[in-house]
Amino acid sequence: MTIIDGKSVGATLAAETGDFVRSLGTSQNLKPGLAVVIVGNDPASRIYVNHKVKKAAELAIHSVKHELPENASQADVLGLIEVLNQDPAIHGILVQSPPPAHIDERRIIETITPEKDVDCFHPYNVGKLAIGDTDGFVPCTPAGIMVLLQRYDITVAGRHAVVVGRSNIVGRPMTLLLSRKSRYGNATVTLCHSRTADIADVIRQGDIVVAAIGKPGFITGDMVKPGCVIIDVGINRVDDPTAKRGYRLVGDTDFESVSQKASYMTPVPGGVGPMTIAMLMANTVRACCLQNGLAPPDHPF
Ligand code: NDP
Repeated sequence: MTIIDGKSVGATLAAETGDFVRSLGTSQNLKPGLAVVIVGNDPASRIYVNHKVKKAAELAIHSVKHELPENASQADVLGLIEVLNQDPAIHGILVQSPPPAHIDERRIIETITPEKDVDCFHPYNVGKLAIGDTDGFVPCTPAGIMVLLQRYDITVAGRHAVVVGRSNIVGRPMTLLLSRKSRYGNATVTLCHSRTADIADVIRQGDIVVAAIGKPGFITGDMVKPGCVIIDVGINRVDDPTAKRGYRLVGDTDFESVSQKASYMTPVPGGVGPMTIAMLMANTVRACCLQNGLAPPDHPF
């Protein structure tokens, strides 16, 4: 069984992005810019935002962090987005999810101009993704998974991919990319969710299984086909008194039993996670290129 090393591929992708950023500076005098907005004090969201800003700095991407208080109004957030939409130094805008309950996340997403929607949450970009128009963006986690499949030379075309989980950030766009008529698509795709009947039987048919459920160890070895490729998106905390922080991170698959059957598998942590942030940087560079009439770096979608 081959472990798909997302940490290493993510680092390579980030280094390639950094090289591209430097070449944009030299040849075009351009610096990609990313604005990250966080509303409220959610500790996990703050950690994610800080990682994103740090990664941008490492790649010489200009980044700005806007921290709004928990009681910021909807108008405050929308007003800030309008300013960022107009700012020529900012090519990508992301608002860390989830915002506090009194903020309407849909309004926020729809206010970000589609050209700067590097998370690919805006209905305009989601629509482009659905119709196979490659001019828009691809959401970071599914995009990162496509890069992993490409760099490990895993055949997708003609195979049966089973995606478990239908969220707008992971599962649903994943099915669109895997089934897309493109160089690295052309899979036959089944999308499962909490109402899927006989889910173990469906997962067992998958040559490629993408697990994005949010349930620790949900998929066990007896539920997968021998030789399958497992992409585990889940990030779940489970109590572990022996760990320094009292918990450890596990995926949606039971690594011990599934790894006995799989041919390739992403670990948690160190699989899909590092790809997500690397793709956010790549999307920011892509946004900068598109907004300046330049060809963006190639990608496997
Ligand atoms: P959501 O909670 O938005 O969606 C979960 C999906 O799983 C839903 O479609 C739900 O079905 C389905 N589901 C839940 N329980 C079951 C079940 N028992 N059987 C079958 N399907 C089930 O999650 P996300 O997509 O946002 O995230 C999924 C996981 O991936 C989480 O652990 C999250 O932390 C992680 N994640 C990791 C990222 C990374 O960078 N590595 C990025 C984003 C997420 P239904 O629609 O019917 O409710």
